[in-house]
Amino acid sequence: MPDRLDTAADPVTLTQRLIRYDTTNPPGNEAACVEFVAGLAADAGLPHRLVAAQPDRPNLLIRLPGRGAAPGLLMHAHVDVVPTKDQQWSYPPFDGAVRDGHVWGRGSLDMKGGLAMMLTAMLRLHAEGVRPAGDVLLAVVPDEEAGSAVGARYLVDRHPELFDGMRYAVGEDGGADLELDGAVRLHPIVVAEKRACWLRITLRGPGGHASRVALPDSPVRRLTRLLDAIEPGGLPPVLTPTADRMLRELSAALPEPQAAVFERLRADPADESALGELSAADAQYLRSILRHSVNATVVRAGTATNVLPEEMTVELDCRALPGGFGAADFVAALSERVGADLDAEVIVEGEAMPEPEFGPFYDQLAEVLRAADPDGVPVPMVTTASTDARLFPRLGIACYGWLPLMLPAGSGYRGLLHRPDERVPVDALRFGASCFADLLRGYR
Ligand SMILES: [Zn+2]
Repeated sequence: MPDRLDTAADPVTLTQRLIRYDTTNPPGNEAACVEFVAGLAADAGLPHRLVAAQPDRPNLLIRLPGRGAAPGLLMHAHVDVVPTKDQQWSYPPFDGAVRDGHVWGRGSLDMKGGLAMMLTAMLRLHAEGVRPAGDVLLAVVPDEEAGSAVGARYLVDRHPELFDGMRYAVGEDGGADLELDGAVRLHPIVVAEKRACWLRITLRGPGGHASRVALPDSPVRRLTRLLDAIEPGGLPPVLTPTADRMLRELSAALPEPQAAVFERLRADPADESALGELSAADAQYLRSILRHSVNATVVRAGTATNVLPEEMTVELDCRALPGGFGAADFVAALSERVGADLDAEVIVEGEAMPEPEFGPFYDQLAEVLRAADPDGVPVPMVTTASTDARLFPRLGIACYGWLPLMLPAGSGYRGLLHRPDERVPVDALRFGASCFADLLRGYR
């Protein structure tokens, strides 16, 4: 099957082929795409197996056997993509066209391009007869974009034995990015994700005619105090060890006056004037990783403008920084800030994220990037998104978001995740594939 082998040799062609399977989730329908990848593994003679919670949505595990000199390394990639409905695209989102030096299409960045990079590296090493120090396992999974119930969560819950011996994992970077006005090209190494804690708060108390000032314990006054307590966007800023390291490394890599801005933030993460010197998008990202954030997103109450309601509910999207902070901590902190016990229901509580590991494997990830792009700056980052990397730590696997892409400094590509005209430069894909090959070759 020379056609399939040619495809596998080049991450660009492979990304195009993967994009052409419409794996919009919901409903996903990932089977054809996953079976195409299984076919490539079969052609290459790599051990692989399909594991399905649902027949039309299989998971695939491909193994590149190692020498047994290091623990196992997991690479995980999802093949489902988010919907394109109501989006205006310059080229059809499932054609996988190459135009202007880019592969265009849904999933080019998130994350069929990443899968193509991982798979190309694996097939390349296998063809060269290279055995990495440890077993390398590539998990190709469905359903990342809608909760992972039949994807990574199913594997971790029901088939943890598939990951025996795995110690580290690399996956997508969740779009973690800073543009820094193009001053340097950053290579994010995502070491942690924020933990989603969604709460529904019910406020009860006296209602009445709205022509008179509402009583202090009325739901409307309590809502006012609650909203006031989360201004501007969450609990007061805190500097976690990861954020501290990120700000320090950025400050060292940047020219003045930007370097000073990051030093000021390290000294005081609440320094709004320092944030004000950055672009709005960079400041928003930094505000989000310098606090346990809280956004009021759904408010339900009231029947008429002139009637004070006796009950109101407000849903809060809370996101915790790594280190164990969870839903109960949010409820306690908010109750203290409003001066009353809140009646809170936990709608969603994501997995607890452990403190990141900055050990030898992290250093390897940074070394590969430094060697491949001496002008670039590898930086540890936290992503505000949730990816499948939240699920594997339970199995004792340290997870990193690492999708090396050679992108022009300040180009904003990672901002195209889930947006129309998602695309990736072909050179960025080739760079990434060769970084993955370097990682597997030098893995120790
Ligand atoms: Zn993704």
